[in-house]
Amino acid sequence: MPSGNEFTTGKRSGTGKKNASCSFCRKNYREVGPLVEGPDNVYVCGDCIELCQSILEQEKRRRGEPTTLFTSVPTPREIVASLEEYVIGQSRVKRSLAVAVHNHYKRLMLAADGDNDVEIEKSNILMLGPTGCGKTLMARTLAKCLQVPFAIGDATTLTEAGYVGEDVENLLLKLLHNADFDVEAAQRGIVFIDEIDKIGKTSSNVSITRDVSGEGVQQALLKLIEGTVANVPPQGGRKHPEQHYIQIDTSNILFICGGAFVGLEKIISKRLGRKMIGFGVEPKENAAEQEHLLGNVCVEDILQFGLIPEFVGRLPIIAALNHLHEDDLMRILTEPKNSLIRQYEKFFEMEKAKIEFSEDAIREIARIAAAKETGARGLRSVIEEAMFEILFELPDQEPGRTYSITPEIIRGEVSLFPDQRAA
Ligand code: ADP
Repeated sequence: MPSGNEFTTGKRSGTGKKNASCSFCRKNYREVGPLVEGPDNVYVCGDCIELCQSILEQEKRRRGEPTTLFTSVPTPREIVASLEEYVIGQSRVKRSLAVAVHNHYKRLMLAADGDNDVEIEKSNILMLGPTGCGKTLMARTLAKCLQVPFAIGDATTLTEAGYVGEDVENLLLKLLHNADFDVEAAQRGIVFIDEIDKIGKTSSNVSITRDVSGEGVQQALLKLIEGTVANVPPQGGRKHPEQHYIQIDTSNILFICGGAFVGLEKIISKRLGRKMIGFGVEPKENAAEQEHLLGNVCVEDILQFGLIPEFVGRLPIIAALNHLHEDDLMRILTEPKNSLIRQYEKFFEMEKAKIEFSEDAIREIARIAAAKETGARGLRSVIEEAMFEILFELPDQEPGRTYSITPEIIRGEVSLFPDQRAA
């Protein structure tokens, strides 16, 4: 029998302890396993210890006490390796993001250790690139690799306070949601803001729900990005005076902005004094030229595009992603950990069948998707349309069958179930 503060495991029933049960949930040790024994015949089981632990953690968070910060930050090489598992191509961007993100979290770690001699400024990131080339995927994968909360927002839905639309603080609410309302974790999360090019003041794509120039949204976002203590309404929606707010300090949140910046090549080409791309240029040459131009982007071009200088100044890292070609799309179909082809193979395995895509079929999917000019986004719709009939028939088929997918099936010219088609 322990005395004073001593605790022992009461796992053995021991003599006279055959009926020991948890003093919290009243369950017998036979039901819940080993019990920890305290003084005066008090016992606690593993389940109740876990429950207590989570209650205490929650209480800590509620009081805003710091929970454990990073103990180590992956190196840029490790970050690139994690990105490689999910993102195809874009190697230059992967490397520059990895360095930026590594430095950002290293800085947080040093600050948490009390090393505040030199304040290292954070490096928010601007990603340029056509739709469906992996901007969001890359930001999401970074958050996964660093195990920090992540939120995605769309700049076109944001408005300056007072206009119809979302307040910029709602971006932080999403982050807070994803961090299970752990303010401390949210304050070191990653926010991805898409379509940032659409709030350019000279942008032709003006939304009617937004302030007319787009500049107001940029100002509001600017404050958030450079670091402020924002009042976030816990229920979301519009702010009103009687509401209680959760205060979030955004100075350590990493903001990654993304946009297609259509037409930016023209601005760059003008600056570089090249002849305008367009008529009389072979499409392939044109794409290569565009890529080359985007690789030469500088702050000046983004300013001319219509983003305000203060805003661009807060996004010191500019990364230009490449257009995805047919070969890249083929790799995207097969190589990533959760690639579409692997997902189909898994699904068929669960249905006790097998599916095989020939290389030509994979090329055909990539070719059709590339023609849609929506980057890798087009792949899913192409493959889903081609697979529709097979997925419809699959549950009625004999198990153990192998379905071989050819380019003809992808194009819808041939059916694996001609009888049903005729019917
Ligand atoms: P955007 O550049 O418009 O943000 P996304 O990152 O949302 O594009 O890409 C849409 C989808 O296309 C992703 O969910 C992913 O499945 C696929 N994808 C796009 N680019 C890549 C890539 N480089 N590697 C692998 N998959 C990609």
